[in-house]
Amino acid sequence: MILELNGLHAGLRFSSAHIVFGHETCGVIHGHSYYVDVRICGEPSGEFGFVCDFKVIKSIVKEICETLDHKLMIPKNHPQTEYKIDNDSIYLKYCGDGKIKEYKIPLEDVVLLPLKSTTAEELSQFFSKCIVDKLKDMGLIDNIKWVEAVVNEGIGQGACYRLNIK
Ligand SMILES: [Zn+2]
Repeated sequence: MILELNGLHAGLRFSSAHIVFGHETCGVIHGHSYYVDVRICGEPSGEFGFVCDFKVIKSIVKEICETLDHKLMIPKNHPQTEYKIDNDSIYLKYCGDGKIKEYKIPLEDVVLLPLKSTTAEELSQFFSKCIVDKLKDMGLIDNIKWVEAVVNEGIGQGACYRLNIK
């Protein structure tokens, strides 16, 4: 059985900025109105025969969206970007393709993510992992086979990552 949540209709959205360092057009600070679709495959179980309570999944995904909303998403592990936090600011330095770009941004404007990049591809992995971790913490994973998150950069384009549990 597969549960499906449509992020656009279920309100699983966030509006954030990012930089795809080194990319010809996406290497500048720009933003998207993201929405996240989620599919969960598992066996119906418990008193109500749920794969997982929709309310639970929505609250998990909404919480992740809230941490990213109205922030500049910065990847901690980009191979050509260094960052340094000093007081209330973050200093970023990108060196690649013979180009150096430096940024100073108020810390409250950013969210640092444990990723190599903030592409839809990486963000979909991030969402899948966060959802699975949370379901594990809540003891709601035993009947689940896989969790898929689709991170859409606006309508019409997105990346999907499936995390297999067993
Ligand atoms: Zn973009």
